Amino acid sequence: MNQIPPFDLSRQYQLIGPEITAATEEILRSGRYIGGNAVKNFEQQFSQYIGVRECISCNSGTDALYLALKALNIGPQDEVITTPFTFIATAETIAMTGAKPIFIDIAQNGFNLDLNLIEAAITPKTKAIIPVHLFGQPVNMTELMKIARDRNLFVIEDVAQATGAEWGNKKLGSIGDIGCFSFYPTKNLGACGDGGAVTLNDSAIAAKIRTIKDHGRESGYIHELTGLNSRLDALQAAILQVKLRYLDSWNQKRIEIADRYQQLLEPISNFLKLPQSISGGKNVWNQYTVEILNDNRDEIRDRLKKAGINCAVYYPLPLHLQPVYRDLGYQTGQLPRSETTATRVLSLPMFPELTFEEQQQVAYRLQDNLAYFRKTG
Ligand SMILES: *Cc1c(COP(=O)(O)O)cnc(C)c1O
Repeated sequence: MNQIPPFDLSRQYQLIGPEITAATEEILRSGRYIGGNAVKNFEQQFSQYIGVRECISCNSGTDALYLALKALNIGPQDEVITTPFTFIATAETIAMTGAKPIFIDIAQNGFNLDLNLIEAAITPKTKAIIPVHLFGQPVNMTELMKIARDRNLFVIEDVAQATGAEWGNKKLGSIGDIGCFSFYPTKNLGACGDGGAVTLNDSAIAAKIRTIKDHGRESGYIHELTGLNSRLDALQAAILQVKLRYLDSWNQKRIEIADRYQQLLEPISNFLKLPQSISGGKNVWNQYTVEILNDNRDEIRDRLKKAGINCAVYYPLPLHLQPVYRDLGYQTGQLPRSETTATRVLSLPMFPELTFEEQQQVAYRLQDNLAYFRKTG
């Protein structure tokens, strides 16, 4: 049976394989595997791409968030407001600093934070807000920055799923105080392994991040702060330089694929809520996520899988209800939109090389299944 994967990185490699091989070969021959020009050049190119003065590469998107929080002196006694409908890393890194994640519900549309709920969640302990541009969709950064500036809060953008996305004419990751990126292979700009980066304009905070990510040292074996080892490998930096040149064209393909899904699925949209892009920004569609409105999401996913169509559920349990955060005391029903959305979401296959025929198959099977459940009621 013909399988349609949720994403397929081997197709991308088929297209750019020779360039990747040449870039890695150069690093392997050089003998310089940590730091060096590959890392320096990637940081320079990425800061230019995002439109900020500073880029610090690191080991992962998780580390990027942790480094940002630590550099802003966030720790025990502090609270950080974020969304419960995201990957665990967003809240995990808040907890790792000793601060308390404060979850507020998501908006009616678009899967991102409901900005109207922020004011009520602010306390004297609140230090920062982490908006997550989920699935590639920008948060309204004009509104968010206004709230944050009025209330004197830091904004750390979690751009892990939205590299290349924009708000107004600015790239995400250049609007808040710090932008945090992941180069996990399935992100819009993915390495062939782990990687991440922090972007910002403030040189003093950038210097502090460089210190923390390198064992708290400014040079040699004199250590000023408690740090860690968080490096982007030279091999990954070389690969990312190649891929960065393709990022805009890949994002453009994702936008076209999303448009085609929209057209294909429009006729069956009565049991299905299609994703809508926020106006005023550029969505780069890390995921194309529909909501199944008939309570049969899991069965539909299983039936699609049997038909060779592999969809994914991001994320089945919102973070405020995760066992690890039991002690925070959230109750079921407290953040209803996140909880309901978690039971409905289904991310359809989405990657730049997905073909029109494959999309037709996905739409046809989805229609078939929705009709099946309409009959069986
Ligand atoms: C992937 C992801 C991260 C973490 O990135 P890693 O590189 O996997 O550590 C953080 N936040 C969000 C929203 C993500 O999707």
